[in-house]
Amino acid sequence: MSKKKSDTPYKKGDILTTDIIDMGINGEGIGKVEGYTLFIKDAVIGDRVRVSIMKPERNYAYAHLDEVIVPSKDRVTPVCPVARACGGCQLQALSYPAQLKFKQEKVRNALIRIGGFSEDHIDSILKPIMGMDETLPTRYRNKAQFPAGRDKEGRIITGFYAGHSHNIIPVDDCMISAPEYSGIVKAIEGHMRNYDISPYDEAHGTGLVRHILIRKGFKTGEIMVCLILNRGESRDGNYLTSQNELIEKLRETGNVTSVSVNLNRANTNVIMGDVTHTIWGEDVIHDSIEVVGRSITYRISPRSFYQVNPAQTDRLYSKAMEYASLTGNETVWDLYCGTGTISLFLATAAAKVYGVEIIPEAIEDAKHNAEDNGIDNATFLVGKAEDIVIRPSDSGIDNEDNGRIVMNERPDVVVVDPPRKGCDPALIETITESSPERVVYVSCDPATLARDLKIMCEAGYELKEATPCDLFPHTVHCECAVLLQKQES
Ligand code: SAH
Repeated sequence: MSKKKSDTPYKKGDILTTDIIDMGINGEGIGKVEGYTLFIKDAVIGDRVRVSIMKPERNYAYAHLDEVIVPSKDRVTPVCPVARACGGCQLQALSYPAQLKFKQEKVRNALIRIGGFSEDHIDSILKPIMGMDETLPTRYRNKAQFPAGRDKEGRIITGFYAGHSHNIIPVDDCMISAPEYSGIVKAIEGHMRNYDISPYDEAHGTGLVRHILIRKGFKTGEIMVCLILNRGESRDGNYLTSQNELIEKLRETGNVTSVSVNLNRANTNVIMGDVTHTIWGEDVIHDSIEVVGRSITYRISPRSFYQVNPAQTDRLYSKAMEYASLTGNETVWDLYCGTGTISLFLATAAAKVYGVEIIPEAIEDAKHNAEDNGIDNATFLVGKAEDIVIRPSDSGIDNEDNGRIVMNERPDVVVVDPPRKGCDPALIETITESSPERVVYVSCDPATLARDLKIMCEAGYELKEATPCDLFPHTVHCECAVLLQKQES
């Protein structure tokens, strides 16, 4: 039901002055005027600002930041000139120590409000966030996905989406990504302009180039470029006008070792389709991760997940290993295992590891990664983690039972690392019923983490320790490693 305008104390366009007293989970500044709450994008805690009302509701309004009257002591100049327009980063105007404080609070609040844990409990188990060493981290991301489109004049552009929209903001150089990406994107954009290769048009489902995916192995220097195209198979291996010329240009930019196309005709927001073809170089790039003195190398396909912040990944996985506290005798499940990144570290310290992951290419990568690193006690299975059943038979995929994943023995330790939506309730039930001593939950969303921890703690587990880890400086996102222990019965 729409509310009458007269229900709201202010109307659109009204100008107000307020102090920013808090920040919301999406990084927006929060101010109050006579008890009425204002949400203001780009305002930071401690600012005094002038704003104009955009969308008034009865108890709150979204307002536009017109002027920072008195800047917060934590306000800094964003490292990126397009920080305000680009939807990629939300906290660039906040100093790095203040960003870390914001994330620590975000995790604490989620655990208390959503998880239902007491303040005392959380304050005794929540460790300080592991931030990056730099005073102002830049260039930390190994992966970027640039959408292609057109500006108002119809010119072909590449960049990033503005916040909450699919309008493309041209970005010359993304300051949180590797420095090479700018030249690669410019080469592709130039080629598209020269040959009038059309970008994808979401509204009509027409045009060819949807996204440009670039990923770099920070430890090896190898760079992968994958063009995501709105088209089907090609008989002769040519997917773009003057494809070889483009490949030449990409090679000239430096360390590109793999160029591929991914075919995606679906009219959805899912970036990649199921089919990828290498059009030059290798199918994969390589990288390595180091955890407490042991280095493991990985091959990574375009569709495989791989953590985006290498420096912090080492720290996050070290914490996950510490929480797993393996002695060498354990059977471990690593669920949502991607290319086996965590699984292989676990395998170096456990008796057996089973990795489960939904993307087949990632499991292919995981098997190669085990072999390449001489690890023979890790088994990798393609499927949904929520489809796991425990049954006495060989572990593997049960084709007669809707492709369920059969585990033939209960685990001593379970590691989960799900996407933002968290664990499926069916999986949580399987885990708690299989009764491992410890569950290590690696999460990229404090809200779904808190929701899932609540269920596990109601089912007989105790929240022992949680450590946030800043994998995504300048954004509101926060990773967290958590240890749950089976309660003594
Ligand atoms: N642990 C890995 C990957 C974590 S990202 C690492 O740290 O690198 C989450 C992974 O879960 C992705 O690889 C994604 O493809 C996978 N995934 C998503 N839904 C899944 C499901 N229902 N069952 C199993 N894996 C899933």
